[in-house]
Amino acid sequence: MKEKIEGNVYIIGAGPGDPGLITIRGLQCLKRCDVVIYDQLTPLSLLSELPDSVELIYAGKEAGMHSKSQDEINGLMVEHARAGKVVGRFKGGDPFVFGRGGEEAIYLRDNGIDYEIIPGITAGIAAPESAGIPVTHRNTVTQTIFVTAHESAGKETPQVDWEKLARLGNSTIVGYMGVKTLPETVEKLLNAGMSPSKPIAVVQRGATSRQRTVTGELSNIISAIEREKITPPAVFIIGDTVNVRSQIEWFEKRPLFGRRVVITRPADQAGSFSRYLNEMGADAILFPTIKTEQEINPELMTEALEKAENYNWLIFTSENGVRYFISALLNSGNDIRAFKNASIAAVGTGTARALREHFLSADFIPKKFTTRDLAEELTANHEIKNKKILRIRGIPAPSTVEEVLSENGAEVDLLIVYKTVMANPIPRVKEDLIKNGADIITFTSSSTARNFVEILGEEKARELAENSTVLSIGPMTTVTLEKLSLPVHLEAEVHTIDGIIDEILKWNENKKRG
Ligand code: SAH
Repeated sequence: MKEKIEGNVYIIGAGPGDPGLITIRGLQCLKRCDVVIYDQLTPLSLLSELPDSVELIYAGKEAGMHSKSQDEINGLMVEHARAGKVVGRFKGGDPFVFGRGGEEAIYLRDNGIDYEIIPGITAGIAAPESAGIPVTHRNTVTQTIFVTAHESAGKETPQVDWEKLARLGNSTIVGYMGVKTLPETVEKLLNAGMSPSKPIAVVQRGATSRQRTVTGELSNIISAIEREKITPPAVFIIGDTVNVRSQIEWFEKRPLFGRRVVITRPADQAGSFSRYLNEMGADAILFPTIKTEQEINPELMTEALEKAENYNWLIFTSENGVRYFISALLNSGNDIRAFKNASIAAVGTGTARALREHFLSADFIPKKFTTRDLAEELTANHEIKNKKILRIRGIPAPSTVEEVLSENGAEVDLLIVYKTVMANPIPRVKEDLIKNGADIITFTSSSTARNFVEILGEEKARELAENSTVLSIGPMTTVTLEKLSLPVHLEAEVHTIDGIIDEILKWNENKKRG
């Protein structure tokens, strides 16, 4: 069906920070954009998954860094929309809740630019929810008030009437931008007669793996947040439902809560891994150091097709091999039936899964998941002497499979279907990694390791690796890491993503036990 592109600019609410908490519509629109102008608190992993062709412009504000003024942001939106681009204005939480989304829409309207506004889950709802604090509660709260507690509001801006708020009963007050000014806010509320024992919570980076929650009473919350070193972004919640947290609390109890796990594999293949980590409470940092591109020698493809019926085996050792092969096959006007006499071998569960996605089931999967194991186990379990084998893979990659099978008398043809090249992680992800480090860095192939060093530089790469736990998918990757003088702390027993996950869970259990 034809896609209707409704607006030149999509003003998209990104939700509170977890990549899973954007709306379906928001994600649909984000994926259509040619240019994305994004703010500070938006989930970077959603941006990492966009194609390289999308221009990403950072418009956030951060201490000590040049930030774009509202005029510059408005100008950029209009300029790109006029150039015929689909522009995404990607904003934290909801665009209209203390987000200047209204101003931006008016500016676009004044300039004759069409737009669509996509709501997001605002931090004032998501952060308390993740902390287990309902903002309304039957029989307890009948009204919820969102306030900005930002002190530098200009003289013309109306000030919050704290005196009036202090007198409201059955209410929850949710404060944005109010950590630094919390001492004054508390004082005003107490002076206006609010009880010193009124429950209050402060939730920092709510609904993200870096969430921290401090609860107390008006009388003691300031010393509590100073002790816990709570910093922006955070919301505060004043009201009796803060006490319900002890019954509802859930988010911070998830098994991998707070762990930062770096994924260096291609962003388009990180989906299920990163989702799993997010669901377990971890922060999956998408730092793709490689990406793949189709790379087919048309002559070799034609030759393979001409001989298709003669092949006894097709051998795949990666999901990419499967995907690029099937797509090349379809593009050539054929499908898998061309290889009607061939059995299929796959190196591991990921490759087998990719085959199943194309309605193919692997006839042979080795017990151990390295390419050498595949070649050796296949030789041990099947008569391969004089058998015709098509080995389908990417470059660069070792020729172990071809060598071992040829040595054992098979006739092996090589078909290259893709190549692995260096990726460019988003600069802000790189900055975040260097600044905040990580708990675990995962390497799923030799090329992810080599490019990690290439992208970060030897010194930074080593420093990061030494200060976190380096987890290698298997022996080949481990050898490469060692050659690069990076420490290898763990190697997955089973050389698949599931094997890596098992290793992360084991590591976590050991950590918890101390
Ligand atoms: N439009 C955004 C708010 C932008 S104002 C929204 O709807 O959520 C920025 C303020 O939002 C921060 O100072 C902080 O008070 C709050 N904030 C944003 N993300 C947050 C998060 N993940 N946890 C807690 N507070 C957050």
